[in-house]
Amino acid sequence: MALPGTSSGLHIAHIAAEMAPVAKVGGLADVISGLGKALQKKGHLVEIILPKYDCMQVDQVSNLKVLDVLVQSFFEGKMFNNKIWTGTVEGLPVYFIEPQHPANYFWRAQYYGENDDFKRFSYFSRAALELLYQSGKKVDIIHCHDWQTAFVAPLYWDIYANLGFNSARICFTCHNFEYQGTAPARDLAWCGLDVEHLDRPDRMRDNSHGRINVVKGAIVYSNIVTTVSPTYALEVRSEGGRGLQDTLKVHSRKFLGILNGIDTDTWNPSTDRYLKVQYNANDLQGKAANKAALRKQLNLASAYPSQPLVGCITRLVPQKGVHLIRHAIYKTAEIGGQFVLLGSSPVPHIQKEFEGIADYFQNNNNIRLLLKYDDALSHCIYAASDMFIVPSIFEPCGLTQMIAMRYGSVPIVRKTGGLNDSVFDFDDETIPMEVRNGFTFVKADEQGLSSAMERAFNCYTRKPEVWKQLVQKDMRIDFSWDTSASQYEDIYQKAAARARAAA
Ligand code: ADP
Repeated sequence: MALPGTSSGLHIAHIAAEMAPVAKVGGLADVISGLGKALQKKGHLVEIILPKYDCMQVDQVSNLKVLDVLVQSFFEGKMFNNKIWTGTVEGLPVYFIEPQHPANYFWRAQYYGENDDFKRFSYFSRAALELLYQSGKKVDIIHCHDWQTAFVAPLYWDIYANLGFNSARICFTCHNFEYQGTAPARDLAWCGLDVEHLDRPDRMRDNSHGRINVVKGAIVYSNIVTTVSPTYALEVRSEGGRGLQDTLKVHSRKFLGILNGIDTDTWNPSTDRYLKVQYNANDLQGKAANKAALRKQLNLASAYPSQPLVGCITRLVPQKGVHLIRHAIYKTAEIGGQFVLLGSSPVPHIQKEFEGIADYFQNNNNIRLLLKYDDALSHCIYAASDMFIVPSIFEPCGLTQMIAMRYGSVPIVRKTGGLNDSVFDFDDETIPMEVRNGFTFVKADEQGLSSAMERAFNCYTRKPEVWKQLVQKDMRIDFSWDTSASQYEDIYQKAAARARAAA
């Protein structure tokens, strides 16, 4: 273990748009706190910089206070003041930036989805770097995430390094290549980037149209580029890269896939305070009690404790295989199981479609659709379910299959991206029995999903002892951040050593 302040203890600053549980939309939030905590445990000084959103869960921040300094940052040709708040989230020091800008960039009652998102996050990226620069911190690694903070990489090397703020090396993680942040080239100038210098095919110009692409810029400008699983890292070098495959090939030497972990403190059935009864792999009675409690809470039939309950917790977006999720609901009804979906959609026609399905089943006591975001309920569903569906069309890493396993819910997933790196088919005799932990299918069609579900249901109903062992095995798998954080630590150390050598 490295000690802070020693040569091996690094100073790492994450600049991100989300962090669990204070500002969470999806898996990115879990990664920031999970990876941050694991690196802190290894002896590094980890700090997080977030926007100060009006809608964030302030009750999840301890010692929140505003600092006595104002940080000025550049935007659209002028300087703006930023109030800087500090606080602790999950034991990690966090800086929250509150722009004193008339457009109230982070006072919108939602995290994303505003017409001026490109402005909001280019503003934030610039202000975050300014905060680090003005504080005089000697940071070793600045780790930015997704398009919202991808601006950091070109800003750092084209502006701040020239000011002598150059001790750090930049790591960029792309959590999903579907979202790349494109805009007309001139919009780059808002945060002070040089449009002429960057609007070139080998820098930030998109590979297929005339706009600029911020994720491409971060790939070109960062010292380290990662994505969130080894299989996805392979997939994005071909069609999965959504136009960035050639850029990734050119920069392949600094690009790798590291499987995300999960925060095993937050996701721990033996201490989880949201659960009716806490339990562990040696006490599955507790799991059964949670199933009974959820059935009661959701008004589901409870006559047969061993009727299998299938869970699904997801953003309802095309990536997640919404037509397959819909199929899984009907299939479960057909083969005598129960289904609970917790999901919400930013896409109006998908939300509407699922509202229709929810209505259709509202008097059916085996199917329940809850079309909202609800963290507390998500814990109860992981604990109550026997199986968990993740039929994604593509999945950079996916956390829900890992969380499900930790709660003893056996995953049924499509073999893609991080699902392929974490779920191994129970019936596949080509892989060692000890790693087989769920049910998988390859083709993104109803047949493939149906047959995986049927195999899972058969095992559950016909071989309860085998199923129980599978559940216990899944609950004991180590999905903690420890291993993945060591991989990040290793690449950070190498980059920091190169930086020291260069200095
Ligand atoms: P993505 O980041 O693509 O949304 P991940 O599987 O990486 O998917 O992470 C999803 C995270 O968000 C998990 O922690 C999951 O429990 C949570 N989540 C997704 N939808 C909901 C919801 N409707 N309510 C509560 N939590 C949700």
